[in-house]
Amino acid sequence: MSRKEEKRKQREKMIEENGLIYLDGVSKVYSAGAPALNGVTLHINRGEFVFIVGDSGSGKSTLIKLLLRELVPSAGKVWVMGHDVARLPHRKIPKFRRNLGIVFQDFRLLKDRNVYENVAFAQRIIEVPPKEIRRNVPSILATVGLAGKYKAKPRQLSGGEQQRVALARALVNNPAILLADEPTGNLDPKNSWEIMNLLEEINEAGTTVVVVTHNREIVNDMRKRVITMKKGVIVSDEEEGEYIDED
Ligand code: ADP
Ligand code: MG
Repeated sequence: MSRKEEKRKQREKMIEENGLIYLDGVSKVYSAGAPALNGVTLHINRGEFVFIVGDSGSGKSTLIKLLLRELVPSAGKVWVMGHDVARLPHRKIPKFRRNLGIVFQDFRLLKDRNVYENVAFAQRIIEVPPKEIRRNVPSILATVGLAGKYKAKPRQLSGGEQQRVALARALVNNPAILLADEPTGNLDPKNSWEIMNLLEEINEAGTTVVVVTHNREIVNDMRKRVITMKKGVIVSDEEEGEYIDED
């Protein structure tokens, strides 16, 4: 077996035993203050749909940033797709991140580019051949319900439409994991539901989905796994869970 093949097998074994996402005793301390995460251990399997809820400041975004390797832990280990994320060499980070789609509350679109260009951009930076881009972008825009809006600029779109563009951009490279940090935080209830329904469809098609949210009604209705954080620790983790009231 080649060294590369052997490493691939080791990663598969890690995923099988501990999940596609595995945090092992993870703490993150930003500065002198209380840790943002304090000894978090967590397994998320391939194909799961997971909500992460909790008060503002409880460490949810920190957890997402650790998965993306925007941050490295102060203690413990973060494993994503069988990779010990902190030990990834810098030259391997771009390739690693291709497997992670990310959506934020504030959309973060390129304001001077149209819908098509915003999505195509994600493919160009990883050098997908133009012919494939011309096939993939319309396909993913149809999936998110934006088939007729290629030429619109972000400012000409509603919040719900902008978030669909962001979602299309996150998905066009076909990531194994989709991370969403308060994706409906700026949306009205109708658009929030539409985005969450899309996330559910994406999950049903095979993508592992992790959604940070404050949307109590949606969490209670969708009956997914719910992880509740408080002051940097997981205080509950329930299959088919509910939004737990802050005390
Ligand atoms: P949440 O997303 O649940 O609101 P965060 O992960 O953003 O929580 O923050 C957790 C804690 O870490 C908070 O106390 C926050 O003030 C602190 N924090 C977050 N980012 C930084 C940073 N870049 N520098 C210093 N402290 C930070
Ligand atoms: Mg946050």
